[in-house]
Amino acid sequence: IPVDLFDLVIFGGTGDLAQRKILPALFRRFCGGQMPKGARIIAAARTNLSQSDYKAMITNAIQAYGGNQANDAVALEAFLDCLTYTRVDATGDIGWPELSTLMAQGQGARVSIFYFSVGPNLFGPLAERLHKHGLAQDSSRIVVEKPFGRDLESARALNATLATHFSEGQIYRIDHYLGKETVQNLMAIRFGNMLFEPLWNSQYVDHIQITVAETVGIAGREAYYDRSGAMRDMMQNHLMQLLCLIAMEPPAKFDPDAVRDEKLKVIRALDTVEPHHIVRGQYQAQQGADDRHDSYRETVGNLRSTTESYIALRAHISNWRWAGTPFYLRTGKKLVARSSVINVFFKDAPHSIFGEEAGRHANLLSIRLQPNEGITLKVTIKEPGPGGMRLMDVPLDMTFSEALGAAGGNPPDAYERLIMDVIRGNQTLFMRGDEVEAAWAWTDPIIAGWQARGDVPKPYDSGSTGPDDADLLMRRDLREWQGIN
Ligand code: NAD
Repeated sequence: IPVDLFDLVIFGGTGDLAQRKILPALFRRFCGGQMPKGARIIAAARTNLSQSDYKAMITNAIQAYGGNQANDAVALEAFLDCLTYTRVDATGDIGWPELSTLMAQGQGARVSIFYFSVGPNLFGPLAERLHKHGLAQDSSRIVVEKPFGRDLESARALNATLATHFSEGQIYRIDHYLGKETVQNLMAIRFGNMLFEPLWNSQYVDHIQITVAETVGIAGREAYYDRSGAMRDMMQNHLMQLLCLIAMEPPAKFDPDAVRDEKLKVIRALDTVEPHHIVRGQYQAQQGADDRHDSYRETVGNLRSTTESYIALRAHISNWRWAGTPFYLRTGKKLVARSSVINVFFKDAPHSIFGEEAGRHANLLSIRLQPNEGITLKVTIKEPGPGGMRLMDVPLDMTFSEALGAAGGNPPDAYERLIMDVIRGNQTLFMRGDEVEAAWAWTDPIIAGWQARGDVPKPYDSGSTGPDDADLLMRRDLREWQGIN
């Protein structure tokens, strides 16, 4: 799909995200023929760098993170020709007149996009300076990274600051989870098939599990993470977005506000989570074959930290469709495997014509977001052989890379998709301000409860599936986790 001519200004153009994700993503889209001739990328940051030093930095970044195409020296050179570096201070006046001049030099009608790839404390100052220097036009768009606030109050304040200078239609709040091919596939699976939607409610669904397990720890973001924890860093945004897509009503059409209206209704219908339906965990040190992995507390350098690196909870959506169906959500660091999966457990058939001795097997739909993206539906069949009617499960498995060949095995990175959507002006996969606030309104009382009670997370071994209490949370409901164990 062609895109309009654009100027994309990346504030934080020397940062980790710009180097690892944003610029490699733009390079791959460039190689895919999606950057119109004359489009410009203007990287802005506080450091004083020459054009050649900056281009050398980005050459290295693209060689490291740009994929196979990075070996194409001609393409890389052509891409670097679209790139300009300029020094700008988000909190002062340095560099703003130069940036204005640079932008004014763009020939022809072009969309201006300002990507705030800087710490969240700079989102407000950047919006204000863009306005002050006449760069915030009615047609400009801004892209805002996470975290969007750390509670309802700060998210509201940030929304209000951005709203002073930009309308909601100009603000693109990124949650890179929404850019993942398989996450968008959730909508295609639900609303593109007749098979699932009639069963997608509490009458047929026993419960749903959403797991986002990571093997990595928090190295490199210790200070930020220790102030946030898994609830703020993952649950309030990524898992909440997955929950919305799984639980929302069918929007009338696949358009930004229709989709986001339905997601918002899910968040607003969430009950407050009871304390005994939440398990917080913190990883302990681990002795590997030849080295020792630090504990969470050692990593953050605070041996009394009570920040959680793991959280599991049971949520309820009080609406007509889902009353009575629990949603179990869990996410954590330093777990045994990297796995993001949504498991939809259907109820048992109401009556077994084969008798109880044949065994009962409920259907399970697993949607794997990573790794090994695909879906598996467990169906019940007769156990082969002459031994009478006994039932067993078999998986109907579709791994996208096998079913779709190269196109399925090599989906575009989330940032490629999302940046192109910003350039096209499509907000469907971006969070609206009221969604973010509603998610914080659900999160805040949970965190306030921990603080009031002086809650201390339960220790769990690095490389395990999480704290024992998370298994207990399920066992109390006569269920068990599936996805990483
Ligand atoms: P970083 O610390 O690596 O880079 C920060 C950038 O901001 C640098 O380019 C720096 O020069 C620039 N900067 C700092 N102060 C400035 C000022 N006063 N004026 C102008 N520029 C200034 O940070 P990062 O990891 O790239 O993260 C950027 C944003 O993206 C943060 O909000 C972060 O939470 C978010 N994010 C990062 C990742 C990631 O993987 N790195 C993932 C998700 C979200």
